[in-house]
Order: sequence, then structure tokens, then C-alpha cells
Amino acid sequence: MAQLSNDCFASGDALMTTAAALADLEARIDVVAEREEVALANALGRFLAEDVVAHRDVPPNANSAVDGYAVYFDDLDPKEPTVLPVAGRAAAGHPLEGAQARGTAVRIFTGAAVPLGNSGDDGEGEQAGGPDTVMMQEDCQERDGPGGTRLVEIAPGIKRGGNRREAGEDIAAGTTILKAGQRLRPQELGLAASVGRGRLSVYAPLKAAVFSTGDEVRDPDPNDPEDGAGDAGGGLGPGLIYDSNRVTIAALLAQLGCEVSDLGILPDDQAAIEAALKAAACDHALVVTSGGMSVGEEDHVKAAVEALGAVHFWRLAIKPGRPIALGQIGRVPFVGLPGNPVAVMVTFLRFARPMILKLAGAGEIGPQLYRVRAGFDHKKKAERREWVRARLETDADGVPVARKFPRDGAGILTSMVEADGLVELPEEMTGLAEGTMVDFLPFSEVS
Ligand code: AMP
Ligand code: MG
Repeated sequence: MAQLSNDCFASGDALMTTAAALADLEARIDVVAEREEVALANALGRFLAEDVVAHRDVPPNANSAVDGYAVYFDDLDPKEPTVLPVAGRAAAGHPLEGAQARGTAVRIFTGAAVPLGNSGDDGEGEQAGGPDTVMMQEDCQERDGPGGTRLVEIAPGIKRGGNRREAGEDIAAGTTILKAGQRLRPQELGLAASVGRGRLSVYAPLKAAVFSTGDEVRDPDPNDPEDGAGDAGGGLGPGLIYDSNRVTIAALLAQLGCEVSDLGILPDDQAAIEAALKAAACDHALVVTSGGMSVGEEDHVKAAVEALGAVHFWRLAIKPGRPIALGQIGRVPFVGLPGNPVAVMVTFLRFARPMILKLAGAGEIGPQLYRVRAGFDHKKKAERREWVRARLETDADGVPVARKFPRDGAGILTSMVEADGLVELPEEMTGLAEGTMVDFLPFSEVS
């Protein structure tokens, strides 16, 4: 497996801007995921490891866009109805055998290959390619002709080339249709299939290990649908809290396509943390923790990672979110997220997510922000970037407007559920007046 070069996150001590931090990540991080070939059916959500080039036209043949009659436009009277003999039938998967002669109509169905012409029969190049126009059956009337033949009467008024889909009009042979790094959504899988690809070279899921830290942190009882208050174990003891970070982080990683190992809760004990992180680094490509990263005397994660490799606090000029720690356990990348649940999500979405996407082989590491109207006034400190949890509504004039969630403490997890996303306020802003257009990061964009 490709791994990080030594000490790749080393960075100065100054407060870093979001832009500088993201540029640094982009520059220092490289893909570490392995490549593998998978069948299309198993490729959903993976990142492409190759450019996909079409070796054929799509559609492969000129074909009919409607049920009707294939005709040569020059056989039609532009003003009066035209009557032509019906000279054959072409259905999807069952092309007309032989060529379609001038002066005839062929009964044709949607998706059927448009018949070939008798090349050279009339000296006109255009018709040599076969009938150039398909009449919709609604504009035609078929009836018996002499001697058991069939005739079709065609109303005037169609344009040359009507209802004919050209070979290669979607994709011309030789076109690069998908780029390495593209995440494969249902439509990319369809596009790959349309050029005949049954397998694709993709990146293997990144194996990520997740830990929580803290002597106060407990797992909810997986067998208890309530809150544990009434069970024999007595639920939470005094001073304890349930672990909300780990399940959130594991889910965020899973949404990025990682194969997640949930490795539980570590005590506030350096030796135990060191042993667990060292073991995790042996069989994972990424280790993520939350909590224990401050500089209090019960915060042991930093010392543990330092003993195993290197760790760097990136003192980011942001709110919410304490420093995010980036480092390496040996050569395996390490991300130390804050303990506060809201700060966890904000720092994950804005910093850890692009980094992990890059490790996993993604081309676009985003996220895409959208402009919306601020539905609130807000005071902020200059020189730091701030995220405000907000609900998206539609203003009377149809413009999307962000309504601020009333309680904004870094521990208020309900706000993340109530909100539709984060308003992102730039460093230079000191006061936001209601009605100003601002950047908005929808949670739907990053899930
Ligand atoms: P720490 O960074 O360890 O000092 O934690 C900061 C705050 O986040 C404290 O109030 C912790 O109790 C809380 N916290 C830490 N880890 C978790 C977790 N896994 N789930 C919920 N809250 C946590
Ligand atoms: Mg702690």
C-alpha cells in the first residue's frame, strides 16, 4: 500500500486560515488506496482509478426515436399527403434485412436501427445512408393496397431528419467519458455500461479505524431501545456520558466509502492509547480519534501519537472547532478530531473529509457551497472563519434563506439534526446583516 512520506503534516505554529489548511492538505496528501477491478454491479460509490474511453459510438447505430415509418424525406410531398408502399418492418433488436429502396416506407419502432439505403442507387450521398426521416405513426394512416400489399398515407409538414437519432450522437468513439477520481454514481455506471464496459478499475475502500477517547464516555446498550435508565445495570453512572461521536464519525467515513473498523473507547491512559493505536495502524490505512486532544493533563492522545510517529496541531482560525490534529502513526495517516460533537462534525466535513477523499482516490474533494440569503444578523470576530448551523427555507420571493438555529454551543448536538447545513462566514467579515448573500454547505452535499 502506498503510504505517506515521513512527517508530512509538519507545519508552522501560526494560526492557519482555512484556505491555507486546505491547500496544504491538497499538496501533502496523495492517494493511498489500492486499485482493484470490479464488476459494474459492485462499483457503486467507488472512485474510478482509470480514465474510461469509449471504443464505440453510442448509440451504435442510427435508430428511431418513435414508433412510425422510416422514409426518405425527398420522397415526401411538402404540401400534400404522400402515399408510399410499406416495404418491410424494423423493430428494436430486429433490423430490416437488406436495404430500404427509395420511394418506400418501412414500419419502424422506437430503438430499431434505421434501415440502410441502396448506396449509389440515386447518386445522392444523403440518401445513400438510408432513410433520413422517421414519421410518427400518429401522422400516418396505413391501409390495404393492391394485391395484398400495404400502403401508408403520410401527412405533410415534417422536417428532414425528424425522429432519427444519429449513431454517436451521445458519445463518439474515442471520447473520454469518465475521468479517474470520479465517484461512481448510478448514472456513471450506466454510462460505462453504454460503451460496453462490464468491469472498471477502481480504488479499494480505505480501511479506517475509529476510536473514541475519554474515561467518561460509554457506549449505549445495543440491546436497549430506551435510554438504559431502567435496566439492571443502572444505565449511566454519575459523571458519565454516552459516546455520540464514534457512531457519527464511523457513519461519516462510511459515506465516503471507507471500510470502517469500530474499535471502541480508549481510556484516558497513554499506554493503553499507544498500544491500541499501534495495533490499529498495522491493518488500517487511516486512524481517526475524537477527544483527548486538548492540552489538559487528561489528554493523552497527542503524547501517544508522538511516541508512535508524529502529530501536528493545526491551530485553525475557525469556530467552532478546536485544533484538529493531523499526524502519522508510522506512515499511516492519523486524524485527531475534537471531543465536542458539533466541532467533530464541522472539522470532519471541512478538513478531514477532503483529506480522506484524497487518500481514497477522489478527484473532486469539495465540498460545493451554494449561495443563499442570510435570514439573521450575526456578529463575528475578524480573521477567523465561522460556521453557523441553519435551516434552509424559501423566502417570499423564492430565494433560499438560511434561518439560524437559536442555540449554538459546540455541544448542542440537536442543532445538527435540526439544521439543513452550515452557513460559512469568511475571515474578513465582522458583522453579518440579515439579507446578505452567504455561502451555505448543505449536509445533503456531504452525505
Ligand atoms: P476532550 O477533547 O476529550 O476534552 O472532550 C471535549 C468535550 O467533548 C468533553 O465535554 C467530552 O466529554 C466531550 N466528548 C468527548 N468525547 C466524546 C464522545 N465520544 N461523545 C460525546 N462527547 C464527547
Ligand atoms: Mg477527554
